[in-house]
Amino acid sequence: MAFQSSSLSCSSSVDLRRPSAKASDIFGSQLRSLEIEPTHLRLLDSFKRSPKALRLTAVMGSPAQETKDNKPKVEEVSDHFKELRHRFLGFKKDKYLSNLEHYQRLSEVQTPKFMVIACADSRVCPSSILGFQPGEAFVIRNVANLVPPHDNGPTETNAALEFAVNSLEVENLLVVGHSCCGGIRALMSLDDEENTSSFIRSWVFVGKPAKLKTKASASNLDLDQQCRHCEKESINRSLFNLLTYPWIEERVKNGTLSIHGGYYDFIDCTFEKWTLDYKGNSLAPDDGCSINNREFWS
Ligand SMILES: [Zn+2]
Repeated sequence: MAFQSSSLSCSSSVDLRRPSAKASDIFGSQLRSLEIEPTHLRLLDSFKRSPKALRLTAVMGSPAQETKDNKPKVEEVSDHFKELRHRFLGFKKDKYLSNLEHYQRLSEVQTPKFMVIACADSRVCPSSILGFQPGEAFVIRNVANLVPPHDNGPTETNAALEFAVNSLEVENLLVVGHSCCGGIRALMSLDDEENTSSFIRSWVFVGKPAKLKTKASASNLDLDQQCRHCEKESINRSLFNLLTYPWIEERVKNGTLSIHGGYYDFIDCTFEKWTLDYKGNSLAPDDGCSINNREFWS
C-alpha cells in the first residue's frame, strides 16, 4: 500500500517524552521552524541597525554574506517575500481588479456557507485542495484538526466556531483530516501517563477517545496503519464533539446546519467526504452515530 511504502515524514516517530517536542517533528522535515526563528531575529536586528541598507539589499539582490551557522540568510528570506509580493500582485491584477465589484461587496460583508476545521499541516490547505475562494469558507486550522468538546472550555477553535455559527450563520461545518498527520502520530505515540509541559501533547490529548477506540479495534495493526485508522476516527470524534455545543446542536436539529467529515489523502490525491446523520440522540458516539452521503473523489 502506498501509505506504508511512502518515505514521507509520516513514518518518523515523535518522542513527546521530551519536555518540549520540536514543531518540525510534528509537521515533517519540510518545516524548518527552528531555523526560521533566529533568521527572523537577525532580520529585526539588521532592520534596527540600518533599515535603508536592508531594503537596498533586498531590492538589488546583492551577494549574500556568509554566515557561520549555515542558516538562511537575510537575502534568502527577502527572496521568499519577493515571491509573495509577486503572487500578491498577481492576485490583485488577475482576481481582485478583474472582479472588482465582487471584492468590493466582500469588503463590506462576508457570507460564507462553510466553516472548515483543518490541520495546520502546510500540505493540506483547504483553499488549495477544495478551491475555496475568498468569502466562501471561514477556516480555522489547528494541530490534527481537532474539535474539543464543549466542556473543555474556550480555545481559539471553538471561538471561531461560535462566530461562524452564531454570527455568520454558516450552513456547513466540515472537519478535514489527512494522511500522514503528525499530530495524530503524536497522539498515538505519546505515553498517556507521562506528564510533560509540551503544548502539543496537551492539545492532541483532545483526541484521546479516538486513540482509545483505535487501540481497541486495530491493536493488531502496525503503528502506521493505526495512525491512519485514528486519523479518520478522530474526525468522527470531532463531528460528535461539535454536537456538544448547544448552539450547534440546535441548528443541526432544525436543519439549518449540517456537519461533514472529509479526509484528504495526499499520497494518492483522493478525498473522502461524509455527512453526520443526526437523529436527535447523537451525543453517544461510542454507540455509533450514523454517517451518510459518503463520497470518494479520486
Ligand atoms: Zn495533520
